Amino acid sequence: MNSLASNTLFDHIERHGSLPVEAIVKADLLRCGLAFDPEVLMTPVDAASKEHQPKSYFIFSFNMVRQGELDATQSFKAPEEIALTGGSLGLRRTIVSVRLNPDSPYRVKLLDGKRVLTLGSESLSEVAFPDMPAHYGAQLPNGKPVAEIAPVIEWGYLIYLTIFRICQYFGEKEECQFCDINHNYRQQLAVGRPYTGIKKVEDILAALEFIATLDRKAEAYTVTGGSITSKLAGQTEVEFYTAYVEAIENRFPDRWLGKVVTQAWPKEDVRTLKAAGAKIYHPNYEVWDPKLFAAYSPGKDRYIGRDAWIRRVVEAAEVFDPSHVIPNFVAGIEMAKPVGFTDVELAVASTAEGLNFFMSHGVVPRFTTWCPEPTTPLGKENPGGASLEYHLRLLEVYRDTLAAHKLSPPPGYGEAGPGKAVFSVSPFMDVLPG
Ligand code: SF4
Repeated sequence: MNSLASNTLFDHIERHGSLPVEAIVKADLLRCGLAFDPEVLMTPVDAASKEHQPKSYFIFSFNMVRQGELDATQSFKAPEEIALTGGSLGLRRTIVSVRLNPDSPYRVKLLDGKRVLTLGSESLSEVAFPDMPAHYGAQLPNGKPVAEIAPVIEWGYLIYLTIFRICQYFGEKEECQFCDINHNYRQQLAVGRPYTGIKKVEDILAALEFIATLDRKAEAYTVTGGSITSKLAGQTEVEFYTAYVEAIENRFPDRWLGKVVTQAWPKEDVRTLKAAGAKIYHPNYEVWDPKLFAAYSPGKDRYIGRDAWIRRVVEAAEVFDPSHVIPNFVAGIEMAKPVGFTDVELAVASTAEGLNFFMSHGVVPRFTTWCPEPTTPLGKENPGGASLEYHLRLLEVYRDTLAAHKLSPPPGYGEAGPGKAVFSVSPFMDVLPG
């Protein structure tokens, strides 16, 4: 299996010569997940090496096994991300989010005192872990770890504020079929991780105070969480999430680039969000095909509907600059059984239609590479996710569509280009010109 996996990777590198090798390895790592030899997680590489930043489970599990199947070392010591460099592939620095999968053909090992990424018998590159951020050891006056309230990802670029760790689309008939937010919340509590269901405004501000004092890397924050279909603490979804942005911007005006991920809101609500100080709006769209949108985001389809969602994305681009409206697509679910495409080119053509539509309005979508978490309906039915060929064709089409529309890489993700990109849950920024 392993030599087959490495042959497959090298075949793809050869066949997709217009893509950076870094993006191809990253795409395969994100879709297959990664295993670690235990000593890699426990052993400092040398006397100078610092404690590393562990995976924070910042919103979803982004793992291919249940939390209870991981031992304490894997669960609490796996790094948030890895940086690949050099090795037989001569990789420029490539940041990849860690998705644990003990059965993955990719494994990080300790060889001659160095952390190395291996694929079967092949040694591909050196591996570095992120240093523990300065604010991670701090605690709020109420005892909550600052790292749980305000983790950072993307190699320190983004402060990720999941305010509400639960989604009110609940159960298999409403939850997005690829999303494990509710399962993840229950799993983290079950393994004893400090994990706050609803973060208080004052806790967020207190945690950001530590970051503002101790950190020089973060450039943006994301406010997000589950959908609110009725009310939460007496507030609508718009009132709830906007209040956090307003509080952050009042306390730290323009200190970081404020990004908000929510459902697609009516135009007047988007105006409220912008007035509160948000700079970038992510009304995540997930999948373009109408049949798949209805089947795989049934709650969104029932409560808002695909046509209204699309219309609201376009209208949001009349409030924010179009380049600052960035809907996410979950790359891979359009190939998922039971109702996904079975042909790679047809699947990519469908998303290309969506990309062309949004880009013709100046709106540049982005991707998160699908992680088939085992507690989700799609993860159960498609444990292997989508093929590497699908992911690479999608990257080629995305790059070319963006160029055809003469648009720039979306803001709020750091630099683009191989060796520079820090966005860790998709290689889309690695394939764009820097
Ligand atoms: S709306 Fe869908 S993707 Fe978003 S948190 Fe709820 S279930 Fe997950």
